[in-house]
Amino acid sequence: MKRYELIVLLTLALALALVAPSAYGWGAATHTVVADRLEKQGGARNADEIYGSCAPDMFNTAFDLPVFGPGGLYELTHDHAEQIWDAARTGRERSLAVGFCSHSDVFGADHTAHHDGITYGAGEGYVIAKVDDMRDVLAAIGYDLPTVLYPLSIPSDAEEEIYHSIIEYALDVLTTRIDPAVGAKLADAARQRSDRFPALFVEAYGDELEDLLGSNAAAIVEVVEEEFRQGMIEYGTLLTLDEEDILAALSLYIADFASGYLALWGVELPDGFDPVPLIAFYLDVAMDLCAADYEAELEATVEAVAGELDDRDIHSSAAGARARRHRR
Ligand SMILES: [Zn+2]
Repeated sequence: MKRYELIVLLTLALALALVAPSAYGWGAATHTVVADRLEKQGGARNADEIYGSCAPDMFNTAFDLPVFGPGGLYELTHDHAEQIWDAARTGRERSLAVGFCSHSDVFGADHTAHHDGITYGAGEGYVIAKVDDMRDVLAAIGYDLPTVLYPLSIPSDAEEEIYHSIIEYALDVLTTRIDPAVGAKLADAARQRSDRFPALFVEAYGDELEDLLGSNAAAIVEVVEEEFRQGMIEYGTLLTLDEEDILAALSLYIADFASGYLALWGVELPDGFDPVPLIAFYLDVAMDLCAADYEAELEATVEAVAGELDDRDIHSSAAGARARRHRR
């Protein structure tokens, strides 16, 4: 790798720090493909669907906000996505809302990742099942984190969280094999998303946001959303590179994230220990574990999400909206 290429990768890896470590469902590339295939709107409407489908994760790294736990921002965006749909009025707002709802942990894409896989991981979720598989495979060959870092003691939750994150990034890389344009679609969607999105979000969750964030809620949402949007432009751009370069940048980023994450658990990596090659190896293992069956799960997820949105009359197209009005 040439020096300037390394600098570009390092810059991208740092920019990734702004992106949710996505260890909370599918990665952004998976959500992009789901939204892209849902309704064929084209142009700005399709961009709004794609951006909307990634946006529920926008608070995932806002560690100084009440994100996790009961009633937190994560629960709001993942379990109550329909509130955005109820607030949407214009065509572009409806497209944002369709995407947003497609992510739902209750009836959207995250449900197959976390609760009930369709082709793999029934009753536990595709991603959760793969995390278990990864732990087993690594333990069997003596390369699991507790063995590699012995005599440090690695909390089981921290180990799981790191594998979880690696599986989701590995799936995003596999997604670029299925749809080589996915990175460009994500970056363009983040560039073009309707300016109305932050205001729509505040309208949809006004009362809850005020309870969680106080009277400055709207301003806080605007700042977090803009950081997330920029992060998605960077991440989408990263996913347009060659697979080898994507994996190099992701290894740097995840190694940094994993070291910081372990430090939160009081685990300091020994001086001179370079986690990057280990993470690169883990990404490889994760891709091997998922390469044969991920596409089938993705296809099944698209079909399931389309059906769930249909059941709820959540449609981006004018025809869908007419049907919706008619039924009222
Ligand atoms: Zn999510």
